[in-house]
Amino acid sequence: MKSTTIVPPNHPHVIIVGAGFAGLRVARGLRGSPVEVTILDKNNYHTFIPLLYQVATAGLEPEAIAHPVRRIVAAPNVRFRLASVTGVDLQQRRVTTHAGDFAYHYLVLAAGSVTNFFGLESVAQHTAALRDLDDAETVRDRVLSSFEAAAAEKSPARRRALMTTVLVGGGPTGVELAGALAELRRHVLPRDFPELNVSQARILLLEASDRLLEAMPQRMQRKALEKLQNMGVEVQLGARVTGADERGVSLSDGERIDAGAIVWVAGLRASPLAQALDAPLGPAGRVIVSRSLDLPDHPEVYVIGDMAHAGGRDNPPHPMVAPVAIQQGDLVAESIIRQTEGKKPLLFRYKDPGTMVTIGRASAVARVYGVPFSGFVAWLLWLTVHIVWLIGFRNRALVLVNWAWNYFTYERGVRLIRRRR
Ligand SMILES: Cc1cc2nc3c(=O)[nH]c(=O)nc-3n(C[C@H](O)[C@H](O)[C@H](O)COP(=O)(O)OP(=O)(O)OC[C@H]3O[C@@H](n4cnc5c(N)ncnc54)[C@H](O)[C@@H]3O)c2cc1C
Repeated sequence: MKSTTIVPPNHPHVIIVGAGFAGLRVARGLRGSPVEVTILDKNNYHTFIPLLYQVATAGLEPEAIAHPVRRIVAAPNVRFRLASVTGVDLQQRRVTTHAGDFAYHYLVLAAGSVTNFFGLESVAQHTAALRDLDDAETVRDRVLSSFEAAAAEKSPARRRALMTTVLVGGGPTGVELAGALAELRRHVLPRDFPELNVSQARILLLEASDRLLEAMPQRMQRKALEKLQNMGVEVQLGARVTGADERGVSLSDGERIDAGAIVWVAGLRASPLAQALDAPLGPAGRVIVSRSLDLPDHPEVYVIGDMAHAGGRDNPPHPMVAPVAIQQGDLVAESIIRQTEGKKPLLFRYKDPGTMVTIGRASAVARVYGVPFSGFVAWLLWLTVHIVWLIGFRNRALVLVNWAWNYFTYERGVRLIRRRR
């Protein structure tokens, strides 16, 4: 492969791997600075991951939560290259990609995370995950396809199984998905499938621990559980999935649940790129970095966002959430500028703004700077924060129009099956 070098003399070349929450913030912080920046991403778009569950439940089209990277990073000293990164040569200071090699003076690795199936092969093979836009469309396809199959099914028992959706993982994504699916079942599917008794459709949320939403205060955990139960979601706590096949899941206590669609949202681990670094890894395969977020012995290499375990092995890892990625991105941009001026990089300290989870229509639970909220107020907060965070006027407009439409008509306009199994 030919090496691609776009380094003008005297200007250090910064390579950023990943145009996610973390990578984009670094690029933004370096705009107009005396460095040349190249962002590499395997996709030419940035995905607003917190709204994936709405694509998965037919509430939003994928285009509403994706934005072209070239548009976002437009600046004279920032370039984008569509490239899937396969490795890093720390000694030669080169990144290898499917589109050639790239030389760097500073490297920022921000390639995010992938679904963690915890080594359960059958689960990886037979369940749908939710980590990117393709996954979200797969979830939507599978849920809708299973209802189509139910409509053609003669056996009542099999029909009921096909109308069962199993969600594995009681974190924010599992709870949000369960709430949105319950709305779909209540307001949309009975109209679409008059030949089915949709009131028999089941939504099961399985969680291995004894609570939902681990990071929330106990009171909010209870509220979320009650709300889901009121919406007809069957929540099973202490339910550990050990295997899956085309027709359902098996639990550690021997129980078997037949289902038309199974969605695995039980965990994430760092991008496999972490293993290519030959650096120490912490839990979930995250790269152990210093308090300045660089690699031991490589002050020119930063690892941030979901890929990073900051502050050394003994420090508890930061959660894999967007505010961590954003704050780390901001800090690293500043540190790189300082390094080019011969100064020391800054130390990272996370300021936790809290967490928010919607549960269906006009309801949410939230902890904002330590203060708990629930119900309509929390939902309004959630709505505002997500619209503000979304990148691009067009996307904001699309999402707002969709939400208003869904709210007033109880519709889910994107009920398309695009790929069939
Ligand atoms: C379903 C779901 C819902 C979530 N909801 C929330 C929420 O509501 N609030 C919240 O705070 N957090 C939420 N999170 C977590 C949040 O999305 C992540 O913590 C955040 O995206 C991490 O940012 P990042 O920059 O590290 O990775 P990402 O934002 O994932 O960006 C990684 C980028 O790297 C690119 N990439 C990956 N591998 C390669 C490669 N080999 N070569 C080139 N490019 C590559 C990807 O295409 C992507 O653009 C959610 C996560 C999921 C999965």
